[in-house]
Amino acid sequence: MILISACLIGNHCRYDGGGFDRYPDLARLVEEGKAVPVCPEQLGGLPTPRPPAELQGGDGKDVLAGKARITREDGQDVTEAFLAGARETVEIARRCGATSAILKARSPSCGAKQVYDGSFSGALKPGKGLTAAMLEAEGLALYDEDDRAPFSE
Ligand code: SF4
Repeated sequence: MILISACLIGNHCRYDGGGFDRYPDLARLVEEGKAVPVCPEQLGGLPTPRPPAELQGGDGKDVLAGKARITREDGQDVTEAFLAGARETVEIARRCGATSAILKARSPSCGAKQVYDGSFSGALKPGKGLTAAMLEAEGLALYDEDDRAPFSE
């Protein structure tokens, strides 16, 4: 079983209320029962739409180590909600026996390789989102929409 960021299959769960409908191959995995959609930020109780948030002082691994936080641009700390959603996502992964995840690139929750750098300027830094870091620690293999080819055949 595969976990998929729900916004990648067209669910309108992004911070701005949008979703992506340009990956029909990923939506088909869900329709065929091979994948389960999850949105960690909604699972953490955050509303949609919601103000964007970025990782401050590190990446998702650093949040797990207590060395970084996640804040909105106005400075409000939303780390606890992001942690709650990440834990729920790991629980879903366990229950459905997921061994891999296809995650939305660059998200502070789902980013598997890069995340926004905390300046709210669009700049990126290497690292993982919080849910991605927790799923990797759980042993899942991480992919994003750009390297989903092995699942699209
Ligand atoms: Fe939800 Fe992850 Fe998509 Fe953000 S990137 S909307 S947390 S599924």
